[in-house]
Amino acid sequence: MAEGVKDECCQLAPEGQVCAAKQQAETGCLNCSARLRPVSAAHVMRQVLRPMDHNVDDDYGFCPSPGCELVFAGADGTRFFARDLRHPPAYKTGRTADLLCYCFDFRGADFLSDAADAATSYISERIRAGDCACDVTNPSAGCCLGSITKYRREQQP
Ligand SMILES: [Zn+2]
Repeated sequence: MAEGVKDECCQLAPEGQVCAAKQQAETGCLNCSARLRPVSAAHVMRQVLRPMDHNVDDDYGFCPSPGCELVFAGADGTRFFARDLRHPPAYKTGRTADLLCYCFDFRGADFLSDAADAATSYISERIRAGDCACDVTNPSAGCCLGSITKYRREQQP
Protein backbone atom coordinates (compact mmCIF):
# COMPACT_ATOMS: atom_id res chain seq x y z
CA MET A 1 0.00 0.00 0.00
CA ALA A 2 3.02 2.27 0.54
CA GLU A 3 3.39 3.65 -2.96
CA GLY A 4 -0.27 3.92 -3.81
CA VAL A 5 -1.10 6.11 -0.87
CA LYS A 6 1.47 8.71 -1.76
CA ASP A 7 0.25 8.84 -5.33
CA GLU A 8 -3.28 9.30 -4.17
CA CYS A 9 -2.15 12.05 -1.82
CA CYS A 10 -0.32 13.86 -4.58
CA GLN A 11 -3.41 13.79 -6.73
CA LEU A 12 -5.39 15.36 -3.94
CA ALA A 13 -2.72 17.96 -3.27
CA PRO A 14 -0.33 18.45 -6.19
CA GLU A 15 3.34 18.91 -5.38
CA GLY A 16 4.23 22.50 -4.57
CA GLN A 17 0.68 23.52 -3.90
CA VAL A 18 -0.29 24.34 -0.35
CA CYS A 19 -3.58 22.53 -0.89
CA ALA A 20 -5.87 21.71 1.97
CA ALA A 21 -2.94 21.17 4.32
CA LYS A 22 -3.85 23.81 6.83
CA GLN A 23 -7.34 22.49 6.95
CA GLN A 24 -5.91 19.01 7.23
CA ALA A 25 -3.94 19.79 10.38
CA GLU A 26 -7.08 21.12 11.99
CA THR A 27 -9.69 18.74 10.69
CA GLY A 28 -8.43 15.35 9.68
CA CYS A 29 -6.04 13.14 7.77
CA LEU A 30 -6.06 13.75 4.03
CA ASN A 31 -5.71 10.03 3.46
CA CYS A 32 -8.21 8.56 5.84
CA SER A 33 -9.97 11.55 7.47
CA ALA A 34 -9.06 10.38 11.00
CA ARG A 35 -8.65 13.14 13.55
CA LEU A 36 -5.01 14.16 13.84
CA ARG A 37 -3.26 14.45 17.17
CA PRO A 38 -1.16 17.63 17.44
CA VAL A 39 2.59 17.05 17.84
CA SER A 40 5.53 19.47 17.88
CA ALA A 41 8.15 19.99 15.18
CA ALA A 42 10.78 18.79 17.66
CA HIS A 43 8.87 15.53 18.01
CA VAL A 44 8.76 15.06 14.23
CA MET A 45 12.52 15.74 14.02
CA ARG A 46 13.18 12.96 16.53
CA GLN A 47 11.08 10.47 14.56
CA VAL A 48 11.81 10.96 10.87
CA LEU A 49 14.83 9.85 8.87
CA ARG A 50 17.37 12.64 8.38
CA PRO A 51 15.34 15.64 9.51
CA MET A 52 18.09 17.88 8.16
CA ASP A 53 16.94 16.96 4.66
CA HIS A 54 13.46 18.32 5.34
CA ASN A 55 11.96 21.60 6.33
CA VAL A 56 10.62 20.65 9.75
CA ASP A 57 9.53 23.82 11.49
CA ASP A 58 5.79 23.72 11.76
CA ASP A 59 2.97 22.31 13.78
CA TYR A 60 2.14 18.77 12.79
CA GLY A 61 -0.70 16.34 13.20
CA PHE A 62 -0.20 12.62 13.81
CA CYS A 63 -2.59 10.20 12.07
CA PRO A 64 -3.36 7.26 14.38
CA SER A 65 -5.20 5.11 11.82
CA PRO A 66 -3.91 1.57 11.38
CA GLY A 67 -3.12 0.93 7.76
CA CYS A 68 -3.03 4.62 6.80
CA GLU A 69 0.54 5.25 5.68
CA LEU A 70 0.43 8.94 6.52
CA VAL A 71 2.09 9.59 9.88
CA PHE A 72 2.73 13.33 10.20
CA ALA A 73 1.02 16.12 8.30
CA GLY A 74 2.25 19.68 8.58
CA ALA A 75 0.12 22.79 8.28
CA ASP A 76 2.43 23.85 5.41
CA GLY A 77 1.62 20.73 3.40
CA THR A 78 4.64 18.66 4.49
CA ARG A 79 3.76 15.01 4.85
CA PHE A 80 5.72 12.16 6.36
CA PHE A 81 4.75 8.59 5.65
CA ALA A 82 5.57 5.37 7.48
CA ARG A 83 8.58 4.84 5.22
CA ASP A 84 9.96 8.24 6.29
CA LEU A 85 10.19 7.16 9.94
CA ARG A 86 13.17 5.59 11.62
CA HIS A 87 10.88 3.12 13.34
CA PRO A 88 7.41 3.03 11.80
CA PRO A 89 4.75 1.41 14.02
CA ALA A 90 3.53 -2.11 13.21
CA TYR A 91 -0.07 -0.95 12.85
CA LYS A 92 0.98 1.40 10.02
CA THR A 93 3.23 -1.01 8.14
CA GLY A 94 1.42 -4.29 8.73
CA ARG A 95 4.82 -5.82 9.58
CA THR A 96 4.71 -7.79 12.82
CA ALA A 97 8.45 -7.19 13.39
CA ASP A 98 7.85 -3.45 13.76
CA LEU A 99 7.41 -1.69 17.09
CA LEU A 100 4.25 -1.04 19.04
CA CYS A 101 5.71 -0.20 22.47
CA TYR A 102 8.63 2.14 21.89
CA CYS A 103 9.69 2.48 25.52
CA PHE A 104 10.04 -1.22 26.28
CA ASP A 105 10.63 -2.73 22.84
CA PHE A 106 7.52 -4.76 22.17
CA ARG A 107 6.68 -5.48 18.57
CA GLY A 108 3.59 -6.54 16.68
CA ALA A 109 4.50 -10.21 16.96
CA ASP A 110 4.66 -9.95 20.76
CA PHE A 111 0.93 -9.28 20.83
CA LEU A 112 0.04 -12.11 18.49
CA SER A 113 1.59 -14.75 20.72
CA ASP A 114 0.71 -16.37 24.05
CA ALA A 115 2.95 -13.78 25.71
CA ALA A 116 0.64 -10.91 24.73
CA ASP A 117 -1.00 -10.56 28.15
CA ALA A 118 2.35 -10.67 29.91
CA ALA A 119 3.70 -7.95 27.61
CA THR A 120 0.66 -5.76 28.21
CA SER A 121 0.92 -6.25 31.99
CA TYR A 122 4.60 -5.37 31.91
CA ILE A 123 3.89 -2.15 30.03
CA SER A 124 1.10 -1.21 32.47
CA GLU A 125 3.41 -1.85 35.43
CA ARG A 126 6.16 0.28 33.97
CA ILE A 127 3.70 3.08 33.21
CA ARG A 128 2.49 3.01 36.82
CA ALA A 129 6.11 3.16 37.98
CA GLY A 130 6.64 6.23 35.81
CA ASP A 131 9.27 4.56 33.63
CA CYS A 132 7.77 5.29 30.21
CA ALA A 133 8.67 8.16 27.90
CA CYS A 134 6.03 7.77 25.21
CA ASP A 135 5.83 11.50 24.64
CA VAL A 136 9.33 11.29 23.16
CA THR A 137 9.74 7.72 21.94
CA ASN A 138 6.36 6.94 20.38
CA PRO A 139 5.54 8.48 16.97
CA SER A 140 2.07 9.23 18.38
CA ALA A 141 3.69 11.15 21.25
CA GLY A 142 1.29 9.29 23.50
CA CYS A 143 0.82 6.03 25.39
CA CYS A 144 1.05 2.87 23.28
CA LEU A 145 -1.59 0.86 25.15
CA GLY A 146 -4.55 2.15 23.14
CA SER A 147 -2.92 1.25 19.85
CA ILE A 148 -1.92 -2.16 21.23
CA THR A 149 -5.47 -2.97 22.31
CA LYS A 150 -6.69 -1.94 18.86
CA TYR A 151 -3.95 -3.95 17.17
CA ARG A 152 -4.79 -7.10 19.11
CA ARG A 153 -8.47 -6.71 18.35
CA GLU A 154 -7.85 -6.20 14.64
CA GLN A 155 -5.37 -9.04 14.30
CA GLN A 156 -7.74 -11.59 15.80
CA PRO A 157 -9.03 -14.03 13.21
ZN1 LIG B 1 -4.57 8.84 7.98
